Amino acid sequence: MYIPYGRQAVDEDDIQAVVDVLRSDYLTTGPKVNEFEKRVADYVGAKYAVAVNSGTAALHIACLAAGIGQGDEVITTPITFAASSNCVLYCGGTPVFADIDENTYNIDPESIEERITDRTKAIIPVHYTGQPCDMDRIEQIAKEHKLLVIEDGAHALGASYKGRMIGSMSDMTCFSFHPVKPITTGEGGMVVTNDEALYKRLLLFRSHGITRDVEQMTENQGDWYYQQLDLGYNYRITDISCALGLSQMDKLDRFIARRCEIAENYNKAFGGVAGLKLPFQLDDTRSGWHLYMIWVEPSRRREIFDRLRQYGIGVNVHYIPVYKHPYYQRNGYDSCYLKHSEEFYAGAISLPIHPSLTDDEQRYVIEKVIELVG
Ligand SMILES: *Cc1c(COP(=O)(O)O)cnc(C)c1O
Repeated sequence: MYIPYGRQAVDEDDIQAVVDVLRSDYLTTGPKVNEFEKRVADYVGAKYAVAVNSGTAALHIACLAAGIGQGDEVITTPITFAASSNCVLYCGGTPVFADIDENTYNIDPESIEERITDRTKAIIPVHYTGQPCDMDRIEQIAKEHKLLVIEDGAHALGASYKGRMIGSMSDMTCFSFHPVKPITTGEGGMVVTNDEALYKRLLLFRSHGITRDVEQMTENQGDWYYQQLDLGYNYRITDISCALGLSQMDKLDRFIARRCEIAENYNKAFGGVAGLKLPFQLDDTRSGWHLYMIWVEPSRRREIFDRLRQYGIGVNVHYIPVYKHPYYQRNGYDSCYLKHSEEFYAGAISLPIHPSLTDDEQRYVIEKVIELVG
């Protein structure tokens, strides 16, 4: 038996939707891409959406559209997947890490403020585990210092903050559709925005910097004509993937409801167990419950982790603070130390949580955790 920490939930409807596209005229950049974009944009309450072939590509084109380049600093959290800061490096910019809040494990607005310089251009808050960051404070800071906000919503499609959906608030929000994420397209991602100018730039960067839009071109020589206006990439997503994404969107609310139920079961079962710190939940937010993090005594983390793996439980550690990776250490981050991030990392364990986790599997996980920690 092996119980993964995260897993896709794909059923016959999803399979049929993909098969239908395989029998159609378009495999890539056909009608399903636009339909999927519109579906997600409507769901999160954004005007525009640009689907791409990964969450990482979404973050990259968002940084490009934001005009991040050499000499620009972008503040983000180290308790995230490396893509949240790599996207800044791709553009020649400098990621600056702020510490996390010790309760929510999300980026701490105070720590953001301490790191703002003349060169700061943007903030990339990550809604870690699916729980929204303190967006009121982050918006306020961004406004005061004229910074762009690019949300990394890879964990948080379907989450909301004080009644506002993640994806409806900032300059841009990026989502990932990797199989462990709230919905999947296999590989895939999307940027949503309410800003038409950013939208047009995102479209360019998704596809080589090339356009056929007469209004954007410097001249028009005929119907065959197109121009490359900037240096873009091939980050296009296929119609095959978007058909899967559309079918998955039908189930998103159900997936999140099941994730919430699993989190509540864990909360109930672990309440009062000594030596175990449970996730802190903010009022006024709906978490997507992408991850369920427990925190144990750092001196016991290794042993508890190894024993859970031996029991066939696919526990993980999300995340190693990004600046601790050898690549970052070699490139100027060797003196970086963020207290709350390091302390959290030292005791963090992610337990299995995903829509197809069964009650029996969860009972088994609970039993083993209590046996080892209690
Ligand atoms: C998964 C993830 C990404 C990257 O998404 P991919 O689709 O795997 O490229 C970025 N940021 C966070 C926080 C993630 O969890």
